[in-house]
Amino acid sequence: MPDRMRVAVVGAGTMGNGIAHTFAQHGHQVALIDIAAAQLERARQTIGANLERQVKKGALTGEQRDATLSNLETTTERERATGAGLIIEAVPENPALKAEILRSLDPLAGDAIVASNTSSLAITSLAASVSRPDRFIGMHFMNPVPVMKLVEVIRGLQTSDDTMNTVLDVARGLGKTPVEVNDFAGFVSNRVLMPMINEAVFCLMEGVAEPEAIDTVMKLGMNHPMGPLALADLIGLDTCLSILEVLQRDIGDDKYRPCPLLRKYVAAGWLGRKTGRGFYTYEAA
Ligand code: NAD
Repeated sequence: MPDRMRVAVVGAGTMGNGIAHTFAQHGHQVALIDIAAAQLERARQTIGANLERQVKKGALTGEQRDATLSNLETTTERERATGAGLIIEAVPENPALKAEILRSLDPLAGDAIVASNTSSLAITSLAASVSRPDRFIGMHFMNPVPVMKLVEVIRGLQTSDDTMNTVLDVARGLGKTPVEVNDFAGFVSNRVLMPMINEAVFCLMEGVAEPEAIDTVMKLGMNHPMGPLALADLIGLDTCLSILEVLQRDIGDDKYRPCPLLRKYVAAGWLGRKTGRGFYTYEAA
């Protein structure tokens, strides 16, 4: 796969904007696609602000910022995925929605590698919605994408060695460290992380401690850079709930049962940073 290629990112939310930013910064031509024009506008603003921060820190030059922006197209037209060498799906963690999007992208994909950024869903099951399951793979970026080094790369049952090796190379080309894992619910990252976040929410619900106290214990006591509740707000509480539901259903163990308080916050629309309120409140939504 060429060092610089066309990449389509479908879904311009928390993850899609970071994935698009990272590929554009590394010289790829990116089409960032969403059904909601407002989300595309918001993604552009977020990418602009994050690039500005990189320039202020001396991590990027002004020319590199401008080149990144000129590599980025935002569009509501799914057909802009045509001709891409890599298509990355980053729509919400809903299997029916992901299947529908993958089916609609399939006629546009040609020989492209199609990757899902799913946090927990089985890659082998999602592959049932594409005609080239050998070209389908999980490419699980971490949030915030421009900063985090890890990409968990998930091999579905039918993923070819060629697809796996290409994706490992692409991830390295972005300055990331890819780690290959097999296709089990939640992979490694969320199978380990989500029970911790869920337990922190149970602590809050049962009155063990206030959010700040829970997070401080985990930061200072366990040397975590962020407490679990602040991290849940960053990930999105709806995303956390969806992942826990997948773990409980697909592994079949009630130890993954989502905390009722997490359900309540999601029902209230308190989804974390992206809505301005979760376990904490945030200035800008
Ligand atoms: P999000 O809710 O922030 O964004 C999803 C975007 O998809 C929205 O902009 C929405 O308008 C768009 N969308 C919905 N339907 C669409 C359609 N039919 N066509 C095009 N766009 C559509 O979600 P997110 O947090 O970015 O999560 C996306 C994926 O990444 C999920 O699978 C999630 O599990 C995974 N993920 C999330 C995180 C995280 O920290 N949030 C980390 C790793 C992986």
